[in-house]
Amino acid sequence: MSGSTHASMRRALIDVAAIEHNVRHLRRLVQTEVIAVVKADGYGHGAVRAAEAALAGGAARLGVADIDEALALRAAGITAPVVAWLHAPDADFRAAAAHRVELGISSFAQLEAAAAAATGESPVGVHLKVETGLGRNGVEPREWRRVCAEAARLERIGRIRVVGVFSHLSNTSIDDDRAALARFHEAVADAAAVGVSPRLRHIAASHAALALPESRLDCVRLGIAVYGLSPTPDRTSADLGLRPAMTLRSTVAAVRRVPAGQGVSYGYTHRAAAETTLALVPIGYADGVPRQASGRGPVVIGGGRFTVAGRIAMDQFVVDVGDAEVSVGDEVVLFGDPTLGAPSAAEWADAADTIDYEIVTRVGPRVRRITVTDEATGDGS
Ligand SMILES: *Cc1c(COP(=O)(O)O)cnc(C)c1O
Repeated sequence: MSGSTHASMRRALIDVAAIEHNVRHLRRLVQTEVIAVVKADGYGHGAVRAAEAALAGGAARLGVADIDEALALRAAGITAPVVAWLHAPDADFRAAAAHRVELGISSFAQLEAAAAAATGESPVGVHLKVETGLGRNGVEPREWRRVCAEAARLERIGRIRVVGVFSHLSNTSIDDDRAALARFHEAVADAAAVGVSPRLRHIAASHAALALPESRLDCVRLGIAVYGLSPTPDRTSADLGLRPAMTLRSTVAAVRRVPAGQGVSYGYTHRAAAETTLALVPIGYADGVPRQASGRGPVVIGGGRFTVAGRIAMDQFVVDVGDAEVSVGDEVVLFGDPTLGAPSAAEWADAADTIDYEIVTRVGPRVRRITVTDEATGDGS
């Protein structure tokens, strides 16, 4: 294929038009505001390009875990509202305040630190997080009223502005999520009783936003769906009207014809059943190709579908292509949009006993990200 002969050995094509499409589609579907989650370098897609595409698709706000991730968006010139919700004990709330980064607040101490970070006359925007059963962060229910009362006071004196109240669901079952949602509504009422009634109540991430309409509230925090992947194994991207934004490709680096019995890769977990052709693919677990998928991961080479043969190594793996015509320089597709013939990230997730989130997010730094705007060619520039 033209465009691939001089391309690097490992490339992730990022279809920003797909991200934009996904956000626009999801916004129509959920009928509420969207916080596009671009933590972990935009789930491996590149945080800045993902953020720009999501905003173009109609996201009202961006979400990240760390303040550093928020500051990187600001450094790239992104001015949209950004909320960061996971803080180390020594997190730099001053830098966050200076760059108008909204803070998720999970304790009384964090609330005080946020207020202390306010500069001049501009209050720090906060989203108060209440624990509703996930067992991670969020204000303890028994502390909630005290935190909200203090937030109301700090808001009155202009140190903070309560933008939102939020929580996070476990996706254990619809019933578990409904129970957490009920606890959340109680917490919202308790907050209102002490004078905290922010515009944004939010609890749903991709799974609940799609599966539990009553959880959509004032906005939803969408991560995986923005990238065109399904939050659950029982539904495909296409079922949800989503387009996978990342295509992971490599290039055949060597081919060798071998006799029956030839061992392949470390430990000889695969041996050629008959005379065959082995193709070497120069991408490995250092690049996020899970070693756990050794002997199982699917690839497409020249329109033919094959399976990884033997162990996936740090930099490379081997494909037993039988008698197929495969040559050095041929393009290898690990995953992408299955409606265009690629294996899906979900298939790799199955092969590695994990979830599609991990497959895209762990794509490593050696893999060149190439922005494309047309998912059909993927040859890009
Ligand atoms: C990562 C994250 C999300 C996004 O989750 P998806 O399942 O990818 O949509 C939403 N909210 C919080 C608090 C998160 O940590």
